[in-house]
Formats: sequence, structure tokens, C-alpha cells
Amino acid sequence: MFIDVAKIRIASGKGGDGKVSFHREKYVAAGGPDGGDGGRGGSVVFKVDDNLSTLLDFRYKKKYIAPPGEPGGSKRCKGKDGADLVIRVPRGTVIRDQSTGQVIKDLSGDEPFVVAKGGNGGWGNTHFATPTRQAPRFAKPGQPGVEREIVLELKLLADVGLVGFPNVGKSTLLSMVSAARPKIANYHFTTLVPNLGVVRVGEEQSFVMADIPGIIEGAAGGAGLGHDFLRHIDRCRLLLHLVDVSGSEGRDPVQDVETINAELAGYSEFLAARPQIIVANKTDLLGDDRAPAERLRAYAAEKGFDFLELSAATNTGVQELIHKTWDSLQELPPVFVYEPEFVEAEPEVTERDIKVEKVEDYFVISGAWVDKLMGSVNTDDYESRMYMDRMLKNAGVYDRLEELGVNEGDFVVIGEIEFEYVR
Ligand code: GDP
Ligand code: MG
Repeated sequence: MFIDVAKIRIASGKGGDGKVSFHREKYVAAGGPDGGDGGRGGSVVFKVDDNLSTLLDFRYKKKYIAPPGEPGGSKRCKGKDGADLVIRVPRGTVIRDQSTGQVIKDLSGDEPFVVAKGGNGGWGNTHFATPTRQAPRFAKPGQPGVEREIVLELKLLADVGLVGFPNVGKSTLLSMVSAARPKIANYHFTTLVPNLGVVRVGEEQSFVMADIPGIIEGAAGGAGLGHDFLRHIDRCRLLLHLVDVSGSEGRDPVQDVETINAELAGYSEFLAARPQIIVANKTDLLGDDRAPAERLRAYAAEKGFDFLELSAATNTGVQELIHKTWDSLQELPPVFVYEPEFVEAEPEVTERDIKVEKVEDYFVISGAWVDKLMGSVNTDDYESRMYMDRMLKNAGVYDRLEELGVNEGDFVVIGEIEFEYVR
């Protein structure tokens, strides 16, 4: 089965907690702190695998959770890092944030991509020993992992996309120019899944052609199969627009082109604006009446499209089409790759983002740096409080309180705690 959209949940591992412990040895009283750091949590990483061609696996498995880091141990033992969880996807998979729809990453290249970084491990109490504090009884907890709902969308990577009504000969053409063997038959919607073929032009010259299920009128509005598959030609550089010029199914060729182009525009203006070559196929069925081909040629010229006649079934005009396509591609920009739009919701707190303000009778200290500090402080523990006190002082928070006119006994609010100011 061919699946090209999937919604999954991913979560990176939490960092392991730092350890509080003291060196113990026979006959040695009150050894120093020796609590180790927690390990880093596992990250969730995406990687392209060219053996995959569908997102089918994600239909059955929806949750991908990387393991946490292990906590630190005694004797300065660092906890083991959580293993990264590597998720393999077909080339051309675009990852989006589920809630905003923003592109997180277009997996068209070979570089692995970390979509959720594992939380850092917390520091063990060895880090908090100072000359005056020989026995720190606190350590830092591990940082949390990142949890996110994402949508995977496969958008095949092809230089050229074939478009047109069902039964106009798209699959026949692909089978004539490449090693791909799509199903061909004289009924509508023979092709149920997109097919890719590599078209060799010369020694080191080739391009990739994509055949998608035929588009029908109303497809962009949800009718038939066509609309869903348009995503696979969305990044093509050039479209070959195949038309049954013989009118063997009783439709008018010019009207066909207009109908399909209206469908493309209904799906995306971006796709509708793509350069096209109008390919008048089934010319072998024209007989003596060449009028439909000439009308289509005139229409193409009027609209500024390139035009070519073809008989895919009898291999007439196929080489010419390959070369014209190749020449056109030389002038066109490369296959479209989506730029990341998504901005991480919680940036790492590195600089000292601290806000000190007076709100009515209170002095309020807030900001990302403060939140991070408070997350690592245990206010029931004297040592921990002293650590917090020193950090706030070093960061200039007390100076700023003084500037705001704080007095002995005023209330100061920080995170979820409140205390009376003492000089
Ligand atoms: P698709 O639905 O656009 O992929 O069309 P197919 O490639 O499956 O072809 C539909 C039918 O048209 C098949 O029976 C083909 O053999 C036939 N066909 C394709 N190209 C030509 C052509 O150039 N001339 C004639 N006479 N028949 C063709
Ligand atoms: Mg087909």
C-alpha cells in the first residue's frame, strides 16, 4: 500500500538527574561530594533511506519515544546517555509541526536531522562544592525532553511531472523512456500510485520523471484520486501535459488542457505557474484529419507553452520529447526544497534573561534564566537556598532590587516562592 501522509508523536528522552553522594571509605570520616552527572536523554533523529518509498510504517506505529538518560551515580559516575531513536523515511519526506503546519525540515538530502533533542543531564553535587561549602546536599535534575506532534508528508523528488486526464498515455510514455514499469491499460485510473523513472539522455545526463494517477475535473475539490497525488509533482521543475489529441474518448483536446490547468490552479497557484510542455499524444489515431493537432498547437502558442506531437504507443516523437525536456530543464531552477519555517518554541536559555520589576507592593523577579535556576533549586534545602542566593546576587538581581528602592522586609516574588527581603 502507498501511504504518503502520516501524523505521529515524537518525544526525546529526559536527561538523567544529577546525584547527591559523598565519598565513603573505611576509616575516612566525612568524605567530599562525589555525585556524578546524569546522562543526556536520547534524541529523535530522522534519516533518509532510499530503500523506502512509502510512509506505510507510520500507519501502524504512531509514537516514537527516545529513552531517558540514566541518573548519575556515586564515585563521580556519569549516568549513561539515552540512545538516539533513528526514524527512517523515504527521500522527499517533509516534516511539519502539526499545530502550526510550519515546515520543520524537508528531508531531501542525506544529512540526519535531529527533530527533538534529548534533555541535558543534571549536574551531580561534585559541581557545587566550594571552599566554604564542602558538603553540598543538592544536585540538579535532568532537563526535560521535547515532545511534539508532527506530520510527515511524502513529496516525491522528480524533475518532470506528467499531468493529464486518465488514459491519455502518461504511463505508456514513462515506460517508453525509463526502466519503470507502471501498469498500463485502456481504462481510467489504472495507475493508483505514483511511479518514478530515471530517463537517460546521454552518458552522464539523466532526469527523473514522475507519473501520478490521472487528474479529473473536480479533483482539486476532492473528486476522484487526482488531488491527493498532486503533492508528488508539486516540486517538479517542469510539467509534461499529455493530451489525447485524437479525441478517442470524445473530449476536445483544447478543453482538456484548460480543465486540467484549472485543476492545478485549484490545488496551488505555485504548481499552476510551473512551465509546461503540451504534448499532443496518440497522433497515430489522427488519420488524415490533423485539425485537432493544429488547433492545440495554436492554443499552446497563444498561451506561451511549448508544444510537441507524440505517439507513445508507436514510439514516434519520443526521442525528440526527451531532448526537448532535457533542454528545457537546463534553463530551470533545481527541484524545490522547502525551507524550514518552524522556530523552536523554547529556545535554550543561555544568556541571562532576567526581569526585575515592582508590581504594586511586590518586587517580582522573572524570566527564562530565573525559571531555569528555580527549576534546579530545592527551596526546602538550606544549601540549595544558599546556592540560589549566590546566583541571584552574582547576576546582579539584588543590585537591581536596590535600584528599584527595595527596603528591608519588602516582599520579593520569584518563581513560585515569596520571601522577605533582608540585606
Ligand atoms: P494513463 O492513464 O495516462 O497512464 O494512460 P496509459 O498509459 O495507461 O494508456 C491508456 C491507453 O492508451 C492504453 O491502452 C495505451 O496503450 C493507450 N495509448 C497510450 N499512448 C498511445 C498512443 O500514442 N497511441 C495509441 N493509439 N494508444 C495509446
Ligand atoms: Mg497511468
